[in-house]
Amino acid sequence: MTSKLFDIEAHARDFQNKGPADILRFAFRNFDNLAVSFSGAEDVVLIDIAKRINPDVKVFSLDTGRLHSETYRFLERVREHYNVELEILSPDAAQLETFVREKGLYSFYKDGHKECCGIRKIAPLRRKLQTLDAWITGQRKDQSPTRANVSVMETDFGFSNPRHTLYKFNPLANWTSKQVWSYIQANDVPHNELHSQGYISISCEPCTRQVLPNQHERAGRWWWEEETLKECGLHAGNLEN
Ligand code: SF4
Repeated sequence: MTSKLFDIEAHARDFQNKGPADILRFAFRNFDNLAVSFSGAEDVVLIDIAKRINPDVKVFSLDTGRLHSETYRFLERVREHYNVELEILSPDAAQLETFVREKGLYSFYKDGHKECCGIRKIAPLRRKLQTLDAWITGQRKDQSPTRANVSVMETDFGFSNPRHTLYKFNPLANWTSKQVWSYIQANDVPHNELHSQGYISISCEPCTRQVLPNQHERAGRWWWEEETLKECGLHAGNLEN
């Protein structure tokens, strides 16, 4: 663990115009106990860059139980391609069984995604983050209105508590979708085959759909809900900005 005096806001100012590799190098220099969160989409770029800097980088992903088969196949491809130990986190079985018994498999279309995401994503993520000092995410400012102010590094108040401060690095914060795809193509980075079928922002199968040319990428996520509420809770702090 790094010093309690670690002033991440000051470092964020220093690094606000730096590229992902510089930000990742800084993260690895200052934290031993950190891991990359990989969603199974284009944030695979993070793994590609991180592996070049730290071959022992730890990576985890959330298996909500509702992902596309293409995403499951992609997770395995990434594991093999990078020879990375990919930790797959699952929801609590008892909590999930109760939820599905009481509300069925598609309650989110009626009363919003919050409860289902809370069980399938947030609870397992919270368990994992309690074991880390910092995590690395693929959040970008251009992904949605809720992410427009994402910093390259920050204190994660959503998952910190009085006994444990958690830091979050967002090395791709300033990159555009175009830059991400240029990197993927230039470096032959494996990608989820759903991207070739018109999907951009990929989450669970029932909550993700293709977007039309010129539509914003988040238009394909929870399309039945208000634009400014489109966070699953992994980055809940964004909604308070
Ligand atoms: S994205 Fe949809 S299916 Fe996946 S956890 Fe959230 S509400 Fe549930």
